[in-house]
Amino acid sequence: MEATVNDIVKIMDGIAPPDLAEAWDNVGLLVGRGSSAVKKLMVALDVSPEVVEQAMEHKVQMIVTHHPVIFDPIKKMTDRTWQHKLLLDCAENKIAVYSAHTSLDSVLGGVNDVLAEKMGLLHTEVLATAASGAAGLGRVGHLPKAMTLQDFAEKVKAVLQLEKVTVGDAGRMVDKVAICGGAGADFIGEALAAGADTFVTGDVKYHAAQQAVYSGLNIIDATHQGTELPVINTLADRIALRLTSCGFRTQVLVAKESKILQCL
Ligand SMILES: [Zn+2]
Repeated sequence: MEATVNDIVKIMDGIAPPDLAEAWDNVGLLVGRGSSAVKKLMVALDVSPEVVEQAMEHKVQMIVTHHPVIFDPIKKMTDRTWQHKLLLDCAENKIAVYSAHTSLDSVLGGVNDVLAEKMGLLHTEVLATAASGAAGLGRVGHLPKAMTLQDFAEKVKAVLQLEKVTVGDAGRMVDKVAICGGAGADFIGEALAAGADTFVTGDVKYHAAQQAVYSGLNIIDATHQGTELPVINTLADRIALRLTSCGFRTQVLVAKESKILQCL
């Protein structure tokens, strides 16, 4: 049996319930017809030129991403900007797009739990609990054994396959670690309130780093992309499992995404 776009939407709404998304977000089915058949599905962090190219090459009928393919309202869809050109490419090639953004960040088993597991954190709790109480952004947990910031930074690089991380050293051993995939510097206060000694996130600006370090919190910028990429394989596995259990034969592919920022 072949799944339709609507079937995938139902599966994704189950994995990352849209009501967990932040109010400002834009999640769910953003491009495509619900009734179209999906023989092949691609999972990716972003709808980027390289991802759309792979989707077209593999003739997929749907892409599931973390970052919304449409975020700000659009007034035109032409090939004059790269984002709108990608939307056109998807529409013209009959590729539907579903995006699960902060819904996937918040949900148990989503972006932040996968990241916490990669870091080896135990007894993890939600860092910023959502109004519903069941989930929320960020996680905080303990390392099995305390280590120096230097050793922990090496571990972060290894598990996230990064050439480097940027570190703000507050002079503390690493034991209780807060994490937030993507741009999580807004949660420095929550990390401190949770008693964390170290915070791993991405997109850390100068003043946020000052705020962390001078408040006694080590901070590690492991990049926005680096902290979110790990969820993609897990998400693809979970979609594939649900497709199989529903009796659908849709093939699930994982896009190959290169690091947008590289070390020279
Ligand atoms: Zn993100």
